[in-house]
Amino acid sequence: MNIALIAHDEKKKDIIQFAVAYHHILKGHTLFATGTTGKRISEEADLTIHRFKSGPLGGDQQIGAKIAEDEMDMVLFFRDPLTAQPHEPDITALIRLCDVYQIPLATNMAGAEILVRALDRGDLAWRSIVKDKKNNQE
Ligand code: PGA
Repeated sequence: MNIALIAHDEKKKDIIQFAVAYHHILKGHTLFATGTTGKRISEEADLTIHRFKSGPLGGDQQIGAKIAEDEMDMVLFFRDPLTAQPHEPDITALIRLCDVYQIPLATNMAGAEILVRALDRGDLAWRSIVKDKKNNQE
C-alpha cells in the first residue's frame, strides 16, 4: 500500500515516535511524506521514504495529486490544531480529496494507530481489489 505521512512542526516528534513504534508494519509498505517530515522520519526511524516538497511549498498538494490519481491508499496527517498554518488552503484541499476518493485518513496519532493496525490485519485489502478492478477496465 502507498501511505502518506505528514506532520506539522509541533507534531513532528509524535510522528517520529509513531514511525519507530510501527516500524515493523510501515517498512512493508511504500511510504511518501512531505519534505521535512520525510527527512526526519528517514533519519530517525530508519525508514525509506519518497519525499515530496515541504508542505508549505506544495508538498500537501503533491500528495493530493497522488490521491486524485488513485495512487495513495492511506494518509496519516498529524495536524497541529493550535497553530495557524500559512498553507491552510492546501491542508483543507488535501483532506477534501481524501473524502472525495474515500481514502482512509487519520488527522492525529490516536486515529493513525487504529488505521495502521487495521492495515496490518488486512482490513484495507479492499483498496487493492478496487484498484485491480479499475486497471482491468482501462
Ligand atoms: P513538512 O510539511 O513535512 O515539510 O514540514 C508538513 C506540512 O506542514 O504540511
